[in-house]
Amino acid sequence: MPMKIDLHSHTRYSDGKLSVDELLMRAHTMMLDVLAITDHDSVAAIEPAIRWQTEQKRPMRIVPGVELSCAWHGFDIHILGFQINHQCPTFLARLEEQSQRRVDRAERICAKLEKAGIQGVLPEAMALAQLPDGAAGQITRAHIARALVNRGEVIDFDQAFKKYLGKGKKAHVKPDWISIEKGISWIKGAGGQAVLAHPGRYDLSAKWLRRLVSEFAAFGGQGLELSQGQLALQKWQFLAELAKEHKLMGSVGSDFHGPSRWCELGRNLRLPDNIQPLWHDWPIN
Ligand code: AMP
Ligand code: MN
Ligand code: MN
Ligand code: MN
Repeated sequence: MPMKIDLHSHTRYSDGKLSVDELLMRAHTMMLDVLAITDHDSVAAIEPAIRWQTEQKRPMRIVPGVELSCAWHGFDIHILGFQINHQCPTFLARLEEQSQRRVDRAERICAKLEKAGIQGVLPEAMALAQLPDGAAGQITRAHIARALVNRGEVIDFDQAFKKYLGKGKKAHVKPDWISIEKGISWIKGAGGQAVLAHPGRYDLSAKWLRRLVSEFAAFGGQGLELSQGQLALQKWQFLAELAKEHKLMGSVGSDFHGPSRWCELGRNLRLPDNIQPLWHDWPIN
């Protein structure tokens, strides 16, 4: 049996809907051998995840990961970090900076919502981002979207982005995330490998995508996320060619945020045959 690997998942420490334990239980049910937890700008789930797994009979490797929010020519670009030292004090201080940026941005988004006549979303979104034990998870636009849905301002999550939170919409705030160069260096500084997340999901033309991948590689990025699950075959092949051209390894992940019809841990994840897996030299093989 080939190993079942999923290198992209979220918990309640960012915008995932499941607690750490719930996520890991589901990963066991889905028969995963390796799971990376990659919360937005947070590694808070890693320690409890490792602790929970050590108490299990069924083996499963937890890969310490992160998904950093970066900005590139006005686009939100996500960079995944794997095998990071999640206790590195410098890295944790840097994540604290990102956290502050997230709170500032949430305040600015909610101020724009107030101008559009929707009052009091910030405390609701902050409450949704809180864990049951009172710890604060990273506040994301997903929490603001959920608050808008709960209040009946929009019919669903998607509409919250289409009407208010998406690029160019009423309550959009231009991202002031770190550069992709900085994102890569933060991850490598914490001993990790940097991978460009879901390259097929940015709203970029082929020409700009080419440019993004080429800059990502030039700045020392090591991999491209090439999960076939969410991609049209043609785009998947295009991205695989770009990976080859820039000598990038391949990574796979479901970007699991919680149970849904469209997304499942470990489902439909396959690398093109001629791409070197990011995990080829990890101590899991
Ligand atoms: P943030 O990182 O705070 O900008 O929040 C963005 C998160 O919202 C993403 O990580 C997705 O999980 C979620 N999301 C869901 N639908 C959309 C959408 N249409 N556009 C942007 N983000 C979305
Ligand atoms: Mn998310
Ligand atoms: Mn992402
Ligand atoms: Mn993600």
